[in-house]
Amino acid sequence: MVSEENIKICLITTGGTISSIYDSSTQALRPGLSVEELLERLPKGMSNIEVIKRELFQLDSANAQPHHWQELASAIKDINEEIPDLQGIVVSHGTDTMTYSAAAVSFMIQDFGRPIVFTGAQIPASVPWSDGPRNLLDAFRVAAFGDLGETCIVFNGEIHRATRTKKVRVNSYDAFDSMDPSSIGILARDIILYDNRKKRDHSLLPRFDNRLDDHVFLLKVFPGLPPQILGRIVDMGYHGIIIEGFGSGNVPTDENALTGGILQAIDQGCFVVVSSQCAFGQVDLSIYEVGRAAMEVGAMSAYDMSSEAALVKLAWVLGHTSEPDRVQEMMRINYVGEMSYIELT
Ligand code: ASP
Repeated sequence: MVSEENIKICLITTGGTISSIYDSSTQALRPGLSVEELLERLPKGMSNIEVIKRELFQLDSANAQPHHWQELASAIKDINEEIPDLQGIVVSHGTDTMTYSAAAVSFMIQDFGRPIVFTGAQIPASVPWSDGPRNLLDAFRVAAFGDLGETCIVFNGEIHRATRTKKVRVNSYDAFDSMDPSSIGILARDIILYDNRKKRDHSLLPRFDNRLDDHVFLLKVFPGLPPQILGRIVDMGYHGIIIEGFGSGNVPTDENALTGGILQAIDQGCFVVVSSQCAFGQVDLSIYEVGRAAMEVGAMSAYDMSSEAALVKLAWVLGHTSEPDRVQEMMRINYVGEMSYIELT
């Protein structure tokens, strides 16, 4: 344990609603608060925590691109080298694509041994009833004191594993939910962390690896989807496609059958992974003929990974190898708790 006088955390700001202001010329919100202005919104009294500030982007997270994930991971690497005695990192971020960025950082920075905490707000911190100050303070608490050694999302008093979170509410303060089995903790009078989380371990040697292939596509299946779309995606130079199927990973096999397109995409060297449109439960391509057909032409299963986590993972895996056996093997490894049913080491 560290003495309370000695607690250093780093806040990296990237934009989002939490940092937004109303722009009267566009009559809409856009990121605008500096890191200092954001911190001014917090109640005083954290004198025992030193917050090292980094303003990285001023982005609405709808504008975040895979290269921003890479830059964020690099920024964390640099800060960690500069200040090795950090207790944790907080990233303020827009909620729209927070799950993608947080999942990307999870894969790109493994064995950090300390919390990397993403947070944001549904209402700008410049508004008196904003959830931003509370979420930011909660994130600081987890970064400084939480017995946690993984990347998470702290929001509305809940602590979620980065790779197993979905944005599920647009208006409520409770923007995020964990997929099965549950969140990894809650914030009450104490920080309550469940046994399913990875614990803090300052002796670990962090592994930074932000290689990525940004040519991975996410395709949602719907009744009537024209199967020719798969060929177009491959022709556009994509190397991987996550097909978000129905239920346990089912796709049309009769009228507008997708299976021929899947086979063709795979024959052209593209990797196809089937995820589910459902937030809970897991893909099992062996149950129905409409799932088995996809498996038989070579589609991989995302198991119970979210489509967001599967997209980021395939992009990260393809940043390392395009050798088919190795891609399949890496997609099955549970690197950072992105799959719920395999124990984290
Ligand atoms: N559009 C905003 C963003 O993702 C929404 C938010 O932060 O809640 O940047």
